[in-house]
Parts: sequence; C-alpha cells; structure tokens
Amino acid sequence: MDLYEHQARQLFAEHGIAVPRAEVVDNAAAARRAALRLGGRAVVKAQVRTGGRGKAGGVKMAAGPAAAALTARQILGMEIKGHIVRTVMLAEPVDIEAEFYVSYVLDRASGTFLAVASAQGGMDIEEVAATRPDAVARIPVDPAEGVTDDKAREIAEVAGLPPEAAPVLSRLWQVLTREDALLVEVNPLVRTTDGEILALDGKVTLDDNAAFRRSRWGGAETAGPHDDPLESEAAAKGLNYVKLDGEVGIIGNGAGLVMSTLDVVAGCGARPANFLDIGGGASARIMADGLSVILSDPEVKAVLVNVFGGITACDAVADGIVQALETVRLTKPLVVRLDGNNAARGRSILDSRAHPLIQQATTMDDAARRAARLADAA
Ligand code: GDP
Ligand code: MN
Repeated sequence: MDLYEHQARQLFAEHGIAVPRAEVVDNAAAARRAALRLGGRAVVKAQVRTGGRGKAGGVKMAAGPAAAALTARQILGMEIKGHIVRTVMLAEPVDIEAEFYVSYVLDRASGTFLAVASAQGGMDIEEVAATRPDAVARIPVDPAEGVTDDKAREIAEVAGLPPEAAPVLSRLWQVLTREDALLVEVNPLVRTTDGEILALDGKVTLDDNAAFRRSRWGGAETAGPHDDPLESEAAAKGLNYVKLDGEVGIIGNGAGLVMSTLDVVAGCGARPANFLDIGGGASARIMADGLSVILSDPEVKAVLVNVFGGITACDAVADGIVQALETVRLTKPLVVRLDGNNAARGRSILDSRAHPLIQQATTMDDAARRAARLADAA
C-alpha cells in the first residue's frame, strides 16, 4: 500500500529526518488559515497516491493566505493520472540550493535492497535516469548489515551527495526496515540556502503482508474511499476487483488463472478492463455482483468468464451465472469457458438457458479470441 505524502513525511519526522512544517486541509477556507499559521506564504500540494504532481499542476507556490485559498480551490478536485485530489498539504516554502534524489527499493531481480541516489534530483529524475544512467548511483545494501554510518557515507560519496546528506540515508533505512516498507523515496531531498538538509517530498510503499501490525494506516486508509468508483463499489461488495483501462471484462477463479487470462486477452490484441477473482466461491450472488460491477463499466464491450472447476465445480458456476441473470440484465456479450470438474454439466446448463448474448468456448485461447473479436466489433 502506498502512503500519501503527508503520511510519508510523518514517518520521516518520527525517524529524525527534517521536513518543512505543513498542514493538510480539504477546503479553501482552511487553506487560508493554514497558510497564516505557516507564516503567510505556502507551497500548496495535491495529496494523491501518484507521482508527477508538479508537472501536472498539482504543486503550486502561493504568495500569501488569500492566494493559498485560491490555489487550494484550483487544486482540490483536480484529476492527476486518474486520481481525484481530495486534500491538499500546505507546506512552509524553503529556498532550494540543490535537489537530490534518494531511495531504497527492494530489487527482486538481485534478491536484495538497492540504494538509488543522485545529485540530480527533482522533477526530471526519470529523464536523468533514462538519458544519463551514470548520474544515478545504484548500490546494493545487504539487509543483514543495513545502512551503517560508513555505508551511508559510501552511498553519499558514490552518488555525489554532500556528506551532510549521509545521516538522512541511515535514517531513511530505519524508516524502510522499522516501518515494514518495500520502498522509501525522497525526491527532492534538498539543501536549502541556509545549508539545511530537508525532505521536501516523500513516497513510502508499505508491505501489505505486514498490514496486521500496521493498523495505524489500515482501517480508515485501506477501507476508505477508493480512487476509482467501480473499485469502491466492488470493495463494498467484498469482491477482489481491480479496474484496468481496457474493453474486455474478466471474471475468473483463482488469482493465477485470472492473471493468465489477462495475458491471453492482451495476446489477442485486446485490453483487459479489469481483474476479478471470484475465488473458490462461485455463488450466484458473487457472480451477480461481479457481473453488475463489470457491466457498469462504460468501457467494457464484452465479458469473458474463465473458470477451471476444482473444488468449485463448473455446474455450480453455470448455475451461478444463470441465477445472476435474474438480477442483472446482461447488456453486453458474454463468453464463457468452463473446464475441469463437471465441465460438461456446466456447459449444458448454459446451453439450455440459451441466452442470445452468451456463447461458450472450450479453450482459454478460443474464449479470449472470441471476447477480443466481440469487443472489437462493438
Ligand atoms: P512531485 O512532482 O509529485 O514529485 O512533487 P514534489 O513535492 O516533489 O514537488 C515538485 C517540485 O516542486 C520539487 O521538485 C521542487 O522543485 C518544487 N518545490 C516543492 N516544495 C518547494 C519549496 O518549498 N520551495 C521551492 N522553491 N520549491 C519547492
Ligand atoms: Mn517529488
């Protein structure tokens, strides 16, 4: 789970990394009052769980409390890469002398952590990494040894950061390990004209496997409003659903099968509209809930149900589909592929229902091809 910037900076502060003073608000009047408390001027920053806010117009300098209110009004409600801005953070502005990039990331390929750091931080770090890879240092960190003072100095030196940045590197490692994070990133870490080292932005991705001991961010944050209305609806119904941006709706049983189905649909030249794993329960209610969420996605042109019957037999899934049709009006073509336990019985249940919008396929490839063709023709 990604934290918001204001939550990430809270963790930084708790671990001794200096951050500018800031307040989070959700309306213009509160932004005005917050700017007053911060001394008048303020940087107004969209709080969304995605990067590139600066380039999208989501980070703006306000010269006084009235300007802060206007700027907050502009940024609130803005959409940044599909995320609606619900709150803004007002931060005390600082005078920047230099911007650095520092992060720790779990590198699954090499099976260790990497310190990634650069003296060319700021909004163009992606471009720097792409065009001048030598300007971005990547140094393995042995998790058993961690980032000692010596290691921190080594990372700073290799990356070309000033020696005063080294303590931040050790503290940021503490954030990663003590807070169960998989990624911590500060961009920019700045040196101010007064020579102070401050974290001006922060990204922290927590390891969901440790959510049980991180209830502080759980509850309200994970069960709270999703960024996507369909995801909120699906979450409310207890479905394991992720919205994607294609046109073929997908329902399957088992995360592995659903992911393979996404790949096979993509291989047929179509784009999956979602991930939906109905798991072991193929009850009529789950099927109806899943179908209704997927059919209400305006981008969906065809739906593919791909089930391999195991403990949940195919006839139960077919019954679930037939019963779901009593509560959900099928408005788009549905391709069903049933295989495995009781597949023949399942297929004949669907055959006898003889719905004009339902067709069956016997293999996953055939099913994906049909769904892709139907979506394309729609
Ligand atoms: P991002 O675009 O989502 O990464 O948002 P950031 O929080 O990193 O802000 C983008 C850019 O705004 C930073 O790289 C800084 O150059 C600039 N910025 C942010 N806060 C301040 C500030 O207090 N003073 C100044 N001068 N610039 C700031
Ligand atoms: Mn940033």
